[in-house]
Parts: sequence; structure tokens; C-alpha cells
Amino acid sequence: MKKLPFVTKEKIEEIVKEYPTPFHIYDEKGIRENAQAVKEAFAWNKGFKEYFAVKATPNPFLINILREYGCGCDCSSMTELMLSKALGMSGQDVMFSSNDTPAEEYEYAAKMGAVINLDDITHIEFLEEILEKLPETMSCRYNPGGVFKMSNGIMDNPGDAKYGFTTEQLFEGFRMMKEKGVKRFGIHAFLASNTVTNEYYPQLAKQLFELAVELKEKIDVEIAFINLSGGVGIPYTPDQEPNDIRAIGEGVRKVYEEVLVPAGLGEVAIYTEMGRFMMGPYGALVTKAIHEKHTYKDYIGVDACAVNLMRPAMYGAYHHITVLGKEEMPCTHKYDITGSLCENNDKFAIDRMLPEIDKGDYLVIHDTGAHGHAMGYNYNGKLRSAELLLKEDGNVQLIRRAETPKDYFATLDCFEVFDRLEFE
Ligand SMILES: *Cc1c(COP(=O)(O)O)cnc(C)c1O
Repeated sequence: MKKLPFVTKEKIEEIVKEYPTPFHIYDEKGIRENAQAVKEAFAWNKGFKEYFAVKATPNPFLINILREYGCGCDCSSMTELMLSKALGMSGQDVMFSSNDTPAEEYEYAAKMGAVINLDDITHIEFLEEILEKLPETMSCRYNPGGVFKMSNGIMDNPGDAKYGFTTEQLFEGFRMMKEKGVKRFGIHAFLASNTVTNEYYPQLAKQLFELAVELKEKIDVEIAFINLSGGVGIPYTPDQEPNDIRAIGEGVRKVYEEVLVPAGLGEVAIYTEMGRFMMGPYGALVTKAIHEKHTYKDYIGVDACAVNLMRPAMYGAYHHITVLGKEEMPCTHKYDITGSLCENNDKFAIDRMLPEIDKGDYLVIHDTGAHGHAMGYNYNGKLRSAELLLKEDGNVQLIRRAETPKDYFATLDCFEVFDRLEFE
């Protein structure tokens, strides 16, 4: 399928008059339509809730859009909890799915009434020491080990992952917590990442549902919810078929009726913690070609770099690129698209066939709406870009300003050198 950006060249030329490149821009219409589809896909389950994985796109304006569709927040750190709290969320709206968790973060999460999802059996006592008494609702992250296989092969390798309780530990942990007065239990698992198949959630659900039945029978605990977590993917490459969230919801419903309902567990709520699927396709990094270099290869240097989007450098991830205004032109040139970091992996694309690029062209790097701006960093003293929201009515709203040198140097503000820095 041809991947086209959600903004036109004309729109970008208008936007850059006010907000210079590079920037991430988000598509309100796409976010809303997708959030509505997710809500409808799981409407069959009374307690369904999507806890948006804040780490994917920790922007309050975007999170507030998702809240209109009933979403809560899945947090992994203190600052994510703080952001959720500042947005007025507490209690059952917040899931705290962290690992290697510091005591003060547990304390903060408990104080705001967030649902705590433990990553390890030793954290039961760790948490008890902090809180004196465990909350009445507790969740545990499950890791069955081995590999996670689907009909199209091995999807991921949970046995190699640092997360979660083993099967034995999960039974033991539930037993311990029941004795300590916990009343309601949740099971959470994240076994494969960026799955572009409608099979992942239903297959994971079946595994967790069967486990829930066994836990209920063997330990006699109330299973209140099953959290399928994240991992629902998006088509980064043009040849991938997008996931159909309605088919996914329907697949989960089928196994719910096959496994949970006959076991008397027809009241169990289904939770999800999607990040990438909620936001990924609805964000793009817009950057300008500022240099052209021909040595042993042909390079286009752009004004964004890996600090604006780390995925290609970090994982060799593919992000589709459109040269604005040249959507219909043939891809006749092979380029490396590079940023300015002193790191040879600072390339948004390697050997990518694209239309001939001229200096001044705007490039749209697709699918940066999740794990894009959020993974930004400051290597080489580079500053993180602004975030913009393309509203449904066509207006553009600044939803995070670009960093300035002052932001970069802010942590030196208690030292004398700070006073000698010259800011514009
Ligand atoms: C990263 C993460 C998610 C979101 O994952 P996506 O692949 O973006 O859907 C959800 N839950 C937990 C615990 C995570 O670490």
C-alpha cells in the first residue's frame, strides 16, 4: 500500500513560517478515529479500558484527546505518574506497570491510588515495607518463558526478557498476597512487541484466560482484570497489512467466551496498554534537506537527527519517508538520509530509493507518533524539537515548544559558569 503523509506540502510551507523545522506533528483526526475504533472493538466487555502507555508519547494534549474515549494512563516512572496526576487522573485511571521500581515511585503510585502491577515476586515484601499494608487490588506481570510463537513463526523471546514472574512465582505470589489481605487480582503480560497481525492479542488472551481459570481454581482468588498490555503493532513498511482492531477485539471476545465464561469468569475486565497502536501512525517528523553530499555514497543531510527520532539508529528501524510535493515522482535515486550527530548510525534511512531531493525540500518521516519525540535525548548538545497538533479544523496548535539552549544548560544553573553563558 502506498504510504502517504497526513499533511501536504502547502500546509507544511504555511506551518514553517511560524514553527521552523524540525518538528513532530500529530494528526488529531487520525488519533480520534483510531481511539473510537479501539473503544468499539472492545465494547462487548463491560469493564474494558485502554491505559495509554504514557512513555510512548508523554504529551498532555494528546493524552487528553484519548481520555475523551475513556482511556486511562499506563505509567512506568515517577514523572509519568506526576503527569497523569496533573491531568486529574487517579485511582483506577492509572496503571503503574514498572520494573526495577524505586521505593518512592511505589509510594507515590499508591498515594494516588494507581493500580500497581508488580514485576517480581520479591516486590510483594518490598511494597509491604513501604506501605505497611498492600492495596486491596494488585496486579502481577507474567512471563511464561520460552518463545512466543504464532502461526507465522516466532514473534518474540519472553524467556530472554527481564520482565515478569515465572509461572510458579505467579501462583506463589497470588497465594502470598491473598494471605496478606489482597482482595482483587489482575494478570498482565507483554510477550511480543510491534506485532503486525490480528492474532497476537487473541492468542495472548487465550493463554492468560486459561491461567486465570487455573489461578481461580487452585488459589480461589477473585480475578478482576486481565491486562493484555501493549505490543499491537503498526505497518512501518508499505508492504505490511495494518492490524484491524475490530478483528482483534472480536478474536479476544471469542476466546473470552470459550475460556472465561464457562469457568464462571464472565465478569473479568479486559485492559490494554497500547502505546504504538494508539499514536504511532498519527505522528510524523518533518525535516528539511539542508545539504547534499556525494562521496562513496550519496547523502542528503537534514536538519533533524537521531535525537529527534532514535529508532533507526537504535534498532535499525524502518521509517517510511516522503519527499513533500514529490509524492508522485518515481524513486530514481538511492540515498542515505543523515542527521548531524558525530555518530555514523545517525541515519534515518540507508540506501533508500527516493525521488531526486533538492536542498530545501521537506521530508516527512512517517510513524513517529509513538516512541519518537519521547525517546529524544541531547547528545552532541542537540535540542529536542517542538510538537505540533494538526487539528481537525486544519489549524495547528503548539503542544510542546522546542528546547532552547537555556533548557539544555538548566542543570548547570547552580554553578557560576551558567552566569557566563550568553542566551539570546
Ligand atoms: C512499552 C510498554 C507498553 C506499550 O507498548 P507498545 O508496543 O507501544 O504498545 C505497554 N505496557 C508496558 C508495560 C510497556 O513497557
